[in-house]
Amino acid sequence: MRILILGAGVIGLSSAYYLSRAGHEVTIADRHPEVASETSSGNGGQLSYSYVAPLAGPGVVSKLPRWLTRGDSPVRFRPKLSTEQWRWCFQFLSACTREQSELTTRKLLSLSFLSRTLLHELIAAEPSLDFDFVRSGKLVLHRDAGAMRSAIKLLEFQRTLGCEQQALNANACVELEPTLAHLRPSLAGGIHTPSEDTADCQRFCKSLEALLRARGVQFLMNTSVDCLRPESGGRVEAWSGGAPLLSDHVVVASGAAAARLLKSVCIRVPVYPLKGYSLTFDLQPQTAAPHVSITDFSRKVVYARLGKRLRVAGIADIDGYSLEPDPTRLVTLRAEAAAMYPDIVRSCPDNEWTGLRPATPRGTPIVGPTRYRNLWLNVGHGALGFTLATGSAALLAQWLASSNGQDLRSTFALSH
Ligand SMILES: Cc1cc2nc3c(=O)[nH]c(=O)nc-3n(C[C@H](O)[C@H](O)[C@H](O)COP(=O)(O)OP(=O)(O)OC[C@H]3O[C@@H](n4cnc5c(N)ncnc54)[C@H](O)[C@@H]3O)c2cc1C
Repeated sequence: MRILILGAGVIGLSSAYYLSRAGHEVTIADRHPEVASETSSGNGGQLSYSYVAPLAGPGVVSKLPRWLTRGDSPVRFRPKLSTEQWRWCFQFLSACTREQSELTTRKLLSLSFLSRTLLHELIAAEPSLDFDFVRSGKLVLHRDAGAMRSAIKLLEFQRTLGCEQQALNANACVELEPTLAHLRPSLAGGIHTPSEDTADCQRFCKSLEALLRARGVQFLMNTSVDCLRPESGGRVEAWSGGAPLLSDHVVVASGAAAARLLKSVCIRVPVYPLKGYSLTFDLQPQTAAPHVSITDFSRKVVYARLGKRLRVAGIADIDGYSLEPDPTRLVTLRAEAAAMYPDIVRSCPDNEWTGLRPATPRGTPIVGPTRYRNLWLNVGHGALGFTLATGSAALLAQWLASSNGQDLRSTFALSH
């Protein structure tokens, strides 16, 4: 079958891999000249298979006053005159219960474990993929005793679901990652997950692109898809520049732009952008940098070593679709990085980056069929798109293979 994928980020490219491996004729269209030009370029680089608990959790309501008023808060809400934003926020707040958060965690863990297995298989099967992949393990740091107690409770819950994690005291954290020695007095402890990985998402995408091109996948770059149009027989077509892009099936993998594109065929998906930032430091030969990937839990900032670079990422602003960076948020992120790694921030040149997480209110992606016989979704991966890419793509390819044009919505779908 001829399959058209809309979006050449990590989700579209991974979908192309599994669909072309299943024998389909695959074309990817993207509005940029190069793949991974949006959210899949400068993300945190953590393959966070065991750390998937959603942002929508039971503790959120008590944090709201801070999110609304403080400029340096890790999450910030900028109200807009937008029903899309308010609807998303309402659905997000409705999801902030313990029951929903645990249900989301269960769903995400099963998808992330599948993704880990598939990514490791992919790396073994495709030696040409080169993307700074390291089995680094991850250490989530807690600064206060209450947060550490809650983290241990989560660890115990996640252990029942197959996660292997250990609680460490401050000394053990420093023993594991000596570059944290100066923070020892301020640490309440940490959760160590040895089975987590780190890698460069943009390099993964570019490596995958080369492999896909060599296997005959077509790339329509600089191609902006203007809309989807309903056709006869319960089908849709994607249109660009006044002409249809011919295909048997269409897969929407357009990240944070998905909701707007799908509006043209009256499909409403609750995908809204959560704006984030990263700084990538070029490490100098003598600068000490962490080998374990680190998350500073209270500040929601992540640190991942990508070869000779250190990626520092964080901040979630509910602030609309603009990619324009807010200089005060970059100041906040730089201050966090300077408190953690002063020598690196002082002596290493860096690049700033802004991206839009394609977030659903509950935190689960939307993968599967739609009410149109030939339209499929692989969207809404929020803060975990790199982590969940292989699992979501392989499931999509498997479901599409068994479709035969029937309505499969009640049979297959990973939905928010
Ligand atoms: C600060 C930050 C840190 C993050 N850290 C991590 C992390 O550590 N680990 C992790 O797993 N995830 C992380 N994420 C999330 C991850 O980056 C995203 O979930 C993932 O990149 C989403 O991939 P995507 O392919 O859906 O979207 P994108 O990469 O945005 O790709 C969508 C593509 O669709 C194209 N497109 C959109 N509309 C159209 C149109 N109309 N016509 C043509 N093309 C179109 C765009 O040009 C784009 O190339 C982070 C995100 C941010 C912002």
